[in-house]
Amino acid sequence: MAAGGYRPCLMLARAVRVADIRGIEVRLDPSVVLLAVLVTVLFATRFLDGFAPAVAFTMAGIGALLVVATTFAHELAHALEARHRGLEVESITLLLFGGVTEMHASGQSARDELAIAAVGPYVSLVCGAAFGLVATFTPDLLPSAIGQPVAEVAGLLGWWNVLLAVFNIVPGAPLDGGRVLRALLWMLLRDRLRALRISVRAGQVLGFGLVAAGVWVVATGALPLIPGLIGAFVLATTGVFIANAAQRELRHAELDEVLTGRTIRDLVATFPTPWPAERPLTDGHARLVGDDDLDGELVTIEHADGRIGAVEVAAIDADAHDPDAPRTVGELGTDVTELPSIDVDADLHELVDTFQGDHRIVRVTREGLTIGALTEREVARALERLRRDRSRAARPADDEVARGEVPM
Ligand SMILES: [Zn+2]
Repeated sequence: MAAGGYRPCLMLARAVRVADIRGIEVRLDPSVVLLAVLVTVLFATRFLDGFAPAVAFTMAGIGALLVVATTFAHELAHALEARHRGLEVESITLLLFGGVTEMHASGQSARDELAIAAVGPYVSLVCGAAFGLVATFTPDLLPSAIGQPVAEVAGLLGWWNVLLAVFNIVPGAPLDGGRVLRALLWMLLRDRLRALRISVRAGQVLGFGLVAAGVWVVATGALPLIPGLIGAFVLATTGVFIANAAQRELRHAELDEVLTGRTIRDLVATFPTPWPAERPLTDGHARLVGDDDLDGELVTIEHADGRIGAVEVAAIDADAHDPDAPRTVGELGTDVTELPSIDVDADLHELVDTFQGDHRIVRVTREGLTIGALTEREVARALERLRRDRSRAARPADDEVARGEVPM
């Protein structure tokens, strides 16, 4: 469905790795079983008219497997085209709503995006045409006991793939059509983020439209009961999935925009001079009260033996009445000597990657010497602030138009 650069959502985290194709991880989400069951039931209701139940369900089961296989072909097309264009592809995940291809999309041009997005529906159309040919010619080429069921299954698969191609080319993110729209707008407006915002808005409208269509199918009884309920369920869940994915994609792109070309210096103006570990907590507390520069969450500590520590600003409050309480900042702080470090001039993408492991604190160095430490929460807050400032700065034109102050 989607050729994306976003991180896996919760749903995808459950997916099981099943294969590895030239370094591209292929994963199955448990919900793909539900897809196979739903498609089997849907196809069987059609086959039961002309075939014995056992034959009908066998045909429907094979049809469902082919649906999953052609969905995979669609995703593989995205992945191989992306790799062909020098982008790093991580994984393909198949799930109830089709599939998701994860790749590192930063660095791709509008032209790359257009080609990578368009190749998926193209492959689905080719699959549709191939199954159509099989459906047309097998009744003449094979004995009817085999030819008839093969033609029936191939016929449904043909239509399924054509529908998949048509649905995916609907211009709303995160569908392929949304990416095609975004790439074209990007070429036209020369503003990637604005193009993305428009395609995300279209994706949200599409998502809510699908939910409404699901409700409509049930409310009007437009389809027989079982296909109607299955159809409504798939429409509504797909709609919610698309609207969420569109929103997530926008946030991800905005964050990427904020990270690109910035370093830690843009995030933290100055790090306070590290404190000696022997400094009494009472003294530390007094300094905090008088120091306006200390807006971070941590103060770095230097031990006499060269170890580096960090102490939370909020924790620096001497308890004079407790004889067991720590007396110096060194006793209160934690050792961060062994924690991962990052240079103050490193790109912010690198900083965010440092927090991908279990580490919640990172040491910041300059020319190899520790000058401070940052917590994950602190970094997330600073990035959110930058993201909000940026999207506010990018929006005044819209607001002005909405208020009618800008004449057309
Ligand atoms: Zn696709």
